[in-house]
Amino acid sequence: MVKDLLINASAPYHAYVGSGLLRTIGNRLQSLSPFPSSVMVVTDTHVAPLYLESVKASIRGCAVHTHIFPAGEEHKTPETVFGMVRAMAQAELTRSDLVLALGGGVTGDMAGFAAAVYLRGIRFVQVPTTLLCAVDASVGGKTAVDLPEGKNLMGAFHQPSMVICDPDTFATLPEARIADGAAEMVKHGVIADAGLFVLMAGGEWRKDMADAVARNMEIKRRFVAEDEHDSGQRQLLNFGHTIGHALEARSGFTLSHGQAVAIGMVMETRAARRMGLTGLDEAVLMRALEANGLPVSAQTTADSLLAYTLRDKKRSSAGITVAVPEAIGKAHLRTLALADFGQYLNAACETES
Ligand code: NAD
Ligand code: ZN
Repeated sequence: MVKDLLINASAPYHAYVGSGLLRTIGNRLQSLSPFPSSVMVVTDTHVAPLYLESVKASIRGCAVHTHIFPAGEEHKTPETVFGMVRAMAQAELTRSDLVLALGGGVTGDMAGFAAAVYLRGIRFVQVPTTLLCAVDASVGGKTAVDLPEGKNLMGAFHQPSMVICDPDTFATLPEARIADGAAEMVKHGVIADAGLFVLMAGGEWRKDMADAVARNMEIKRRFVAEDEHDSGQRQLLNFGHTIGHALEARSGFTLSHGQAVAIGMVMETRAARRMGLTGLDEAVLMRALEANGLPVSAQTTADSLLAYTLRDKKRSSAGITVAVPEAIGKAHLRTLALADFGQYLNAACETES
């Protein structure tokens, strides 16, 4: 059975989740109006040999172009996006044509950004092939590339026209990449869904991946419908990311996004608890994360994190807004003045005496 979620962004779109959907992508695209005369499938060097042919074979009634870029976060650069945009120009895509992002979050973020800027914006469809992209990046319309100065610093809000997720594609993912997705799922549980947290902590979510993905998309959908441009409640989804992004960048990307966010969630909960902002003990999170093969600590200091976090998008003139989990399933936003933020980072880093 295919699950169908309507994402109520400024331009509403459907997210479909179901086993075997990859082979029938072409049929789903038929509902796009106008139907494109050209589709450019953008994918990376790992995903292309696995799934590109079957996606291409399913698309009918229009020209199909492909653009393959080198896999990996280290290639999530303006240069790679520039290559995509030039490929679109060379294929002479028009405003009514379509970009299809086939891959993980790196592919979706960059192909989405390229689609946002090519001809000042053409449509794109997300086909997530990693768990992380399916449960998080594919829904919500945030697109971006990294700069040497930090992650996702250049980007745009550009909602996809459709999301098509076939969880069968996760079968070829290494365990570490499954764990990356699980980190974002634990995050959703902590901030919004205590029942999901229980599923994650016990590992039951693996029994029905399509259901688990749809449940997470449903959470993302609620935040996006309420606050599409991330100026309010959607920032709760940044839980674990204020510190997580800093850890990820500091590691020179040897820590994956999910691993960094896992440690970030533990450290942010510890900081909030020590500052008297929550009664939640980070040990509860640590158990759920470890059960999913995720790290829960890293050698770091408040000073080394500070430089990265001060460049963070979550900073405003009022200070830095952090997500504070009150209990499993419930969180609120709190803006800390810079001086308090220093204290917060210290509290996050100190080990228990
Ligand atoms: P990724 O796209 O690099 O995928 C991870 C690795 O798995 C890559 O090597 C990729 O080639 C490979 N891969 C993808 N699908 C595969 C499959 N089915 N089988 C085998 N290998 C496969 O990264 P990711 O972990 O999917 O996503 C992380 C990125 O997503 C980060 O850049 C992060 O900033 C971004 N992100 C964006 C949002 C958003 O809202 N836009 C949200 C969360 C994360
Ligand atoms: Zn994330």
